[in-house]
Amino acid sequence: MEKNCLFCQIVKGEKPADFVYQDDSLVVFKDIRPHAPVHLLIVPRKHIRSVNDLREEDKEIISDMIFKAKEIARGQEISESGYKLIFNIERGGGQVIFHLHMHLLGGW
Ligand code: 5GP
Ligand code: ZN
Repeated sequence: MEKNCLFCQIVKGEKPADFVYQDDSLVVFKDIRPHAPVHLLIVPRKHIRSVNDLREEDKEIISDMIFKAKEIARGQEISESGYKLIFNIERGGGQVIFHLHMHLLGGW
């Protein structure tokens, strides 16, 4: 838990979010300003600032995030039409929330 981190607060249930999935290692909720008909954020419970800060021991987290995205896309019936999985990394890469997350965009 990082002080003043919005996604740590959401993960802990201290701030509301529209969750579509939760387990011990990650949560998935709707983006508050969607850029696609389906726009979800896949967020590990562990506070990691960005892809730049991933360590060897985080390999399973990244793997879980991608496999969960695939499963959720299938559940939301957007697999066939196609979707994007995006990481924004640091300010130049468009990151504004500095707690690792992956965007799942689709449903066009
Ligand atoms: P980034 O640009 O850091 O990759 O993406 C952060 C995303 O978080 C943005 O798409 C933004 O709309 C979303 N976001 C920011 N604040 C909140 C919030 O309080 N709740 C939810 N559900 N999404 C948020
Ligand atoms: Zn955090």
